[in-house]
Amino acid sequence: MADLRPDTPKQGSTIPEPSRLRELIGRYSGPGPRYTSYPTVPEWRTDFGPKDYREALAGCGARSVSIYVHVPFCERLCSFCACNRTITQDHDIAGPFLDRIEREVGLVAEAMGGERPQVQLAIGGGSPNFLRTDELDRLAGIVDTRFPPAADAERSIELDPRRTEDEQLELLLARDFNRVSFGVQDLDERVQQAINRHSRPERLAALVDRARAGGAKGINFDLIYGLPEQNVESFQETLRKVLELRPDRIALYGYAHVTWISKAQRSFEKKDLPTPDLRLAIFAAAIERLCGEGYRYLGMDHFALPEDSLAVAADEGRLTRNFMGYTVAAGDALLAFGPSGISELSREYAQSEKEPEAWDDCIDRGELPTVRGLRLTDDDVERRWLIRMLLCAGRISNDEFFETFGIALRERLPGLDAELDGFLQDGLLETDGEGYRVTPGGRLFLRPLAMTFDAYLSKSKDTPRRYSATV
Ligand code: SF4
Repeated sequence: MADLRPDTPKQGSTIPEPSRLRELIGRYSGPGPRYTSYPTVPEWRTDFGPKDYREALAGCGARSVSIYVHVPFCERLCSFCACNRTITQDHDIAGPFLDRIEREVGLVAEAMGGERPQVQLAIGGGSPNFLRTDELDRLAGIVDTRFPPAADAERSIELDPRRTEDEQLELLLARDFNRVSFGVQDLDERVQQAINRHSRPERLAALVDRARAGGAKGINFDLIYGLPEQNVESFQETLRKVLELRPDRIALYGYAHVTWISKAQRSFEKKDLPTPDLRLAIFAAAIERLCGEGYRYLGMDHFALPEDSLAVAADEGRLTRNFMGYTVAAGDALLAFGPSGISELSREYAQSEKEPEAWDDCIDRGELPTVRGLRLTDDDVERRWLIRMLLCAGRISNDEFFETFGIALRERLPGLDAELDGFLQDGLLETDGEGYRVTPGGRLFLRPLAMTFDAYLSKSKDTPRRYSATV
């Protein structure tokens, strides 16, 4: 059988040359989902409520869990932000918030009928380090009491480097958090001014040193391209400073101008943003730089050093993906806590109330705060598998599909070759009769490729969904 493992990108081989890239982007870039789930959130149903989620938890049979806790608070608004967050300087809200998280964790644990080992914990936001040291300690304790960490659990937290205190970091390391993700975004002063987010590279460096000295196994930086005032040179300078710190993972997100979701972004005029050509040039130069400096491009905005567990898992075909992004440590179920949290069981998705007051009210009534969700059909499960294989392994194997679902892929999707023909002709995908493999250049086009397998996109033509650009 052909070797269908993804190729290791080599310097200069990752992306097509500029004019070809522009042509491909013209052909394939358009609005599309990010596929943190399939079916995607707009397809979920509002008649899936707390009772459905409770029943799903009771019957899910999960032997281990991944946990996500959403801490929605931030002190100051970054003007590019489209996250679910509450801007406040009132720290008195933290105590009642943690009381409710404790109740929510209890409700879910009881619905599952007992403890399950925690193999993955991620705390995100908002800004989790809006919470003070003792509050972070309490939060970790709430989760660990009901879902005890497995010995090799991957425990991560997003930290805003502008307001991370040494004491917070020490506590987290003592609490066995082994991965720290810093929201860096951009280190150029003009860009920072434009996005209302000022962070100092020296402070970031000190935090990285401290985290490593304290035993953190992995450091992640989030960066954003496509922001106001950015150009190729300024972003290369940001990368230079970033690469001096050699984070194990880098998430390089394209700024998504989604003003229908984020009022904050309305402070930017379209004219303030880099032109599409400039945005592309910033992105292409960044990929070349990162790959040239030894990072593996995993696809979907993510880069990792070859020795990082994500890159190793990608080599070994063990990479998977859930709402928190790429991971090697996914449990049988992903349980989310806090406003807007999204949980994923083997055949169900459930999302919590986004509005803090509505989430508060549900918890205070002793009810799960589920506001929408979905029970997957067999067709959904098969297509989710296909999309994950593309995004995580960069390949689809006919044999594995048959072994998993008991039917040949070509029998299941007889028109697939024709639908993928454009990608094959353009060299973004290869086929050898054993399956399909994404080429290094094709890794830039994973979202449009995944859209080929999305059965809902054609159904929703009459009520078009609003998505960010795929490339
Ligand atoms: S970007 Fe992060 S820190 Fe800034 S407002 Fe949004 S959630 Fe808060």
